[in-house]
Amino acid sequence: MSESENDWLNNLIRKSAEVRENAHCPYSKFRVGAALLSDDGTVYTGCNVENACYPVGVCAERTAICKAVSEGHKKFKAIAVITDREETVTPCGLCRQSLREFQIKSIYCAKATPVNGKYEYRLFTLEELLPHSFGPEYLL
Ligand SMILES: [Zn+2]
Repeated sequence: MSESENDWLNNLIRKSAEVRENAHCPYSKFRVGAALLSDDGTVYTGCNVENACYPVGVCAERTAICKAVSEGHKKFKAIAVITDREETVTPCGLCRQSLREFQIKSIYCAKATPVNGKYEYRLFTLEELLPHSFGPEYLL
């Protein structure tokens, strides 16, 4: 990975860590932040927003996707996801299907705390997270 590629990725992960601070998770205490990079370079962030009626809650990844789509963006290069755990945590099943809808193929799952200013992460492909998936092409 080149130095410049490393920089944009670290910035994307840093934005996911910043928005993690806004997580509304009084029930799970499980904060999540996501930063979604659109094809024109715009970054949309999202955090998890829980609800006293549990099923109403929305994950960070889908918050970011909905913000982007509502602003007119539907093409994306990558998403970064971060929690408070010092291990990589992957998106839930609902979010994987949402990533699939918009063909978000590079999913960077970061560890909670940067080391020397750099976040450690693991890159997953959409195919790894949701193999043999159902997608929009079946409905066209
Ligand atoms: Zn989710």
